[in-house]
Amino acid sequence: MYCQLIINKNSRNIDRKFTYKIPSNMEDYLMPGMRVMVDFNNQELEGTIVSKVEKTDISDSKMKYINDLIDDMPVMTNEILILIDWMREEYVCRYIDAAKLFYPPRNSRDISYYVEVKNKKYTGDSEIYTILKSKGEPVSFKYLFREFKSLDFLKDIYILQEEEIVNINIIDKSYKKTKLVRIKDIKDNIDKYKIRSNAHKQRAIIEYLTNKKVVERHKLIKDTSSSLSSLKSLEDKKIVEIIEKKNIEILKTRDKIRESSINLNIEQKKALETIKQETNQYNLIHGVTGSGKTEIYMKIIKELIKVNKKTIMLFPEISLTNHMISRFVNRFGNRIAVIHSRMNSKKKYEEWDKINKGYKDIIIGARSALFTPVRDLGAIIIDEEHDDSYNSSVTPKYKTIDVAEKLSEITGCKLILGSATPSISTYYKAKKGKYNLIEIKNRINDVKLPETIVVDMKQELDEGNKNIFSRKLYRQIKETLDKKEQVILFLNKRGYSSFVSCRNCGYVVKCDRCDVSMTYHSSINKLICHYCGATKIVSNKCPKCNSKYFKTFGVGTQRIEKVTKKIFPDKIIDRMDFDTVSKKGAQEKIYKNLSNGKTNILIGTQMLAKGIHFPNVTLVGIISADITINLPFYTASEKSFQLITQVSGRAGRGSKLGKVILQTYEPDHYSINYAIENNYYEFFKQEIMLRKEFKYPPYIKILYINTKSKDEISLKKFNNIKYKKLLENLKKLIENGYIKVYEPVPKGIYKINNEYQIDTLIKARSDTINKIKNVLRKLYFNKSYKNISISIEIDPNTIS
Ligand code: ADP
Ligand code: ZN
Ligand code: ZN
Repeated sequence: MYCQLIINKNSRNIDRKFTYKIPSNMEDYLMPGMRVMVDFNNQELEGTIVSKVEKTDISDSKMKYINDLIDDMPVMTNEILILIDWMREEYVCRYIDAAKLFYPPRNSRDISYYVEVKNKKYTGDSEIYTILKSKGEPVSFKYLFREFKSLDFLKDIYILQEEEIVNINIIDKSYKKTKLVRIKDIKDNIDKYKIRSNAHKQRAIIEYLTNKKVVERHKLIKDTSSSLSSLKSLEDKKIVEIIEKKNIEILKTRDKIRESSINLNIEQKKALETIKQETNQYNLIHGVTGSGKTEIYMKIIKELIKVNKKTIMLFPEISLTNHMISRFVNRFGNRIAVIHSRMNSKKKYEEWDKINKGYKDIIIGARSALFTPVRDLGAIIIDEEHDDSYNSSVTPKYKTIDVAEKLSEITGCKLILGSATPSISTYYKAKKGKYNLIEIKNRINDVKLPETIVVDMKQELDEGNKNIFSRKLYRQIKETLDKKEQVILFLNKRGYSSFVSCRNCGYVVKCDRCDVSMTYHSSINKLICHYCGATKIVSNKCPKCNSKYFKTFGVGTQRIEKVTKKIFPDKIIDRMDFDTVSKKGAQEKIYKNLSNGKTNILIGTQMLAKGIHFPNVTLVGIISADITINLPFYTASEKSFQLITQVSGRAGRGSKLGKVILQTYEPDHYSINYAIENNYYEFFKQEIMLRKEFKYPPYIKILYINTKSKDEISLKKFNNIKYKKLLENLKKLIENGYIKVYEPVPKGIYKINNEYQIDTLIKARSDTINKIKNVLRKLYFNKSYKNISISIEIDPNTIS
């Protein structure tokens, strides 16, 4: 028997599957998805088995044996192995780039599960029970896996456990055994032990133990500021004894699902029926915040658990609040595993391990939860599917939605996407019939959407107001605070790539060919189009109205905070953005202060999560819609529509009706108008028409080749050489007009951490994409380039 494996090492040159011989004693239980140690180029390296084969063309004498097994059982499912192959092709990356997403969390530990008979009177015909009985001692999962040669036994095991026929114990061998200290005879007084009166430390230990009786050794030493030697003398005198704590934990049985008192309404029921029908497994639920989508998700999960199927439930990282998690935990208890980036790696590993052992029914998390080894997958649910955090910005630059769709195709499980503002590409697929389109029109209990007022900032300037706040917004803030209600002020932070605009007439410099805003590059004092590379000189007057208020646009949350503090000096003002929530627990604290009324004004980016109700927030101010509208990217309008809709949803969630004030230099922009009318459908119609006209996704594919280096000159040279090669290799497709290759262009933020970045863009007809990928692999990835890192991004939603 042979196996194919990929080597778990970051190197361009070994991006292949290698064949090794399986030692005969491992033949039975070595399976795809397990990691092994092998000799490779005179090193011992780790590899992941991707397949087992009976025959191979490679001559037997050349081939080496596998040295050793790392895992007791597979750590990747067969479906994941197929997915890794797909990701390598789709994202033009290496096996290792895709595979590393699926590896166990770094803090791998030696945790084993053992099963033992609890109810000896059991008379059922369980095969596992028979094995356990005949062994007469606890049996490991590893043993059972080798016995059954599959992991199917896991399902039965937890049922036996629930019926109290077996016990499952977890033994953590990787822990150093914890030492406990116990006092032997606490009734006698200290004098009896003949402790010198000046042995203060020893006395302190005894005193401490008299109250506590048993305590962990390191805690005792710390709390009494004593030392191991003082403890040792007490041990010698037989006053205390030191024992080892057993690292055995009994695995709890899985909680019963709690019934909820909520009955689905007609729209929700209809949605559920559509999802359950068999003809199409892909679904999009389009429904405003508060229309009861999460309730639908929970119903689906519940029904799947009944047929022993599992669910991956994804939220944007920032929506994964304690509030959201406890809503699920209240219903599903310990059947839930939570995976997110804020947890420590020890905890993450424990969760991951329980998922791999089939114990968890629901995996809730940010996008990385998609990469856990879930068997018997029944559904992947992705809430707020339009959210940018679902796109990876590091290699492989995957899109969670696409990977989920593929995994759903491979496993046959349901895919359910939900959003109040679906991404254009997803909605397009739904319109084309690929997804079931489920529209939920009404909010639960008919909660009203807030009233939105648009303020024209050109007019403000005309009338002499040069402040960040329009007069209307200022008045409303004041009134709201006077009524003892609260205010949220929003600013899209992604405005770092600055555009140039006229404060007088609203004119923004756009590329004539590409219809996107051009980006100002201070290093060359020019505007550059990030699609075609066109440049323009920046004039100091508006080309349209001659006004001198013609400059780069930029306000940040910190500046807003400063201004707001100055205007409302006696109010409590809080700020929530990437900087202020990076500390653990910081986000929860900001929410807490807002909900208990401590904060008067909260200034924030889109971070404010959905699903949290602040009934006393009755005013939301959008400081500038322009930052999003003028992102140098084809999704600018889409992002604006989403932003305004999402932000508006934060006002007036309680009994008081909320107000939204939106400041802009472009009050007539269609994304603003349709957003305040809450008319997604008209917005989609307009946007999809423009995408077609200017040739953007979903009508064509966009490919980005991103290169980075600290060496500016060689980076430029590299890109120019490769650009010429691209033109040669793709000559035919270019001549036929199927694709267009643009000149390499510096990125919006050209230099970060002393690293320069240059992008090359290709626009292509969808059916040419595989040909292009092959060329890219040949030109950019056939070998490693010193000091230059390269990555590919396909149909990115954002760039900078
Ligand atoms: P969404 O996920 O679309 O934002 P949720 O599922 O969170 O909506 O629902 C909003 C609120 O309405 C929640 O508090 C939820 O418990 C409640 N809710 C949802 N469905 C119903 C229903 N059928 N009857 C009563 N309350 C409901
Ligand atoms: Zn102007
Ligand atoms: Zn252009």
